[in-house]
Amino acid sequence: MLSPTDAFKNKECIFCKIIAGTLPCEKVYENDHIFAFRDISPQAPVHVLIVPKQHVVDILDVSSENSVIFQNLFGAVQQIAAKLGIAGSGFRTVFNSGDHACQTMYHLHLHLLGGTQMSGSLVG
Ligand code: AMP
Ligand code: ZN
Repeated sequence: MLSPTDAFKNKECIFCKIIAGTLPCEKVYENDHIFAFRDISPQAPVHVLIVPKQHVVDILDVSSENSVIFQNLFGAVQQIAAKLGIAGSGFRTVFNSGDHACQTMYHLHLHLLGGTQMSGSLVG
């Protein structure tokens, strides 16, 4: 697996390729700053990845210079949850950052999970 730095340097980032349209995805939402698509290995009936179009590795990589990402993120969650019919029933949003959280894709992504009753446990 590529390290975060290598993925950026080598321009081998899969999510950047999905955003650019050179890898396929099931797109659910897009605006000037945000792109969202269905997770290829869904862990709930609705499992969407919401990503910034700019290559940002994780939360630690977001700063005042690219805070437009966070300014757009909650609005994207609201619109996607409404569009996919889970705004009323509820949903979970998760950022994995680094090894202990088992981050595997080093392009910042927010997991939006819903469409089923989840347990109260956050750490499994
Ligand atoms: P994380 O473990 O938080 O880094 O999550 C990465 C997520 O990306 C996993 O849920 C994968 O199933 C998902 N994923 C990996 N490759 C693709 C892809 N080509 N299209 C859609 N989702 C993907
Ligand atoms: Zn990327």
